Amino acid sequence: MDIFKEIERREHEQVVFCSDKQSKFRAIIAIHNTTLGPALGGARMWMYASDQDALTDALRLSRGMTYKAAVAGLNLGGGKAVIIGDPNNDKNEALFRTYGRFVEGLAGRYITAEDVGTSVQDMEWVRMETKYVTGIDRALGGSGDPSPVTAFGVYQGMKACMKELTGSESLKAKKIAVQGAGHVASYLCEHLAKEGAKLFITDIYEEKASALAARTKAKYIHPDKIYDVDADVFCPCALGAIVNDDTLPRLKAQIIAGGANNQLKDEKKHGQMLMKKKILYAPDYAINAGGLISVANELEGYPHERALKQAEGIYDTIRRIFATAKQENIPTYEASDRLAEQRIESIGHIRNLYAGKSEFVGRLGELDHMKG
Ligand code: NAD
Repeated sequence: MDIFKEIERREHEQVVFCSDKQSKFRAIIAIHNTTLGPALGGARMWMYASDQDALTDALRLSRGMTYKAAVAGLNLGGGKAVIIGDPNNDKNEALFRTYGRFVEGLAGRYITAEDVGTSVQDMEWVRMETKYVTGIDRALGGSGDPSPVTAFGVYQGMKACMKELTGSESLKAKKIAVQGAGHVASYLCEHLAKEGAKLFITDIYEEKASALAARTKAKYIHPDKIYDVDADVFCPCALGAIVNDDTLPRLKAQIIAGGANNQLKDEKKHGQMLMKKKILYAPDYAINAGGLISVANELEGYPHERALKQAEGIYDTIRRIFATAKQENIPTYEASDRLAEQRIESIGHIRNLYAGKSEFVGRLGELDHMKG
């Protein structure tokens, strides 16, 4: 793999390879773009088949975080870390404290959090070595589980889709097929049930889906049948890549709006297919940004209520994405990317207009020194 070519192709600022033989620690921290603020993104722990796979994952995921933060209107950049190891067997205090020291070494250019394979407990160890960590337990002053904020943002985004399609944002009596009955889906279904939507819920754990269905007066659906439900909205809240060649012809919904990450198997191909089929797709990273909004508020010491208020703004973000897609005649995922890129460019520009105060004081200091 030509590492620099890969880094340049995806326009990353910095990639840090970290290693400590004694604590059997190997990780890659990828910082994609810090124009809007420090790069924030979780640390994923995974048994990668090769170092190349680990690097590719870090580069891909960190770039995604730049777009997510930008379109959510946050003053954060995109970053991600991958820790190479087995999350079921290789975790210990020394490993995560080693990781914490590498994060500290970046002096705030990168802020870490939990992700697939890492937990709030692991972040407690990281926090012993650095303050640049977020997603801390509520009991310890953090924002805790981000799922309620994510779910509220998805709910708002879904209403924006309905407004676009029908002229009314009401979800009353609308049929919604929900894939997954986990954290995000549970909170989301409560909002939807309260508004009078008709829910169809599935999960690979039948008892989980049935329990949620009972709480929200919904119907349980077998996991294989969720794509065939005669629904107004398909709401993926489980896995990625579920919009693909096999599922697209089966979907009857005119809206896809859900919390799952990386919903389109092939962004370009399936994004175009959705546009052709006139299915309104709320880009995943824009509609599920509530989780990031939640941790961003934790960083600034704001309460949960402020995060919810900001997540309400996902309604307007989704409407703006649809307006851009219509205007430019492009798929919605592309419109979302464009909005993110425009924000980075315009804010980057204004940040260059005047030197910041600290920069200015620093320069005066230099002058004094020269005079002296
Ligand atoms: P979760 O693990 O609590 O729930 C996921 C559920 O999906 C589980 O109950 C699991 O059994 C079920 N599932 C797995 N495979 C399935 C399948 N083939 N068919 C049906 N159900 C299946 O996770 P979560 O926190 O609710 O997150 C859900 C999705 O949203 C994930 O893609 C996650 O990356 C994304 N997301 C979550 C947040 C958040 O704040 N939690 C934020 C942004 C994005």
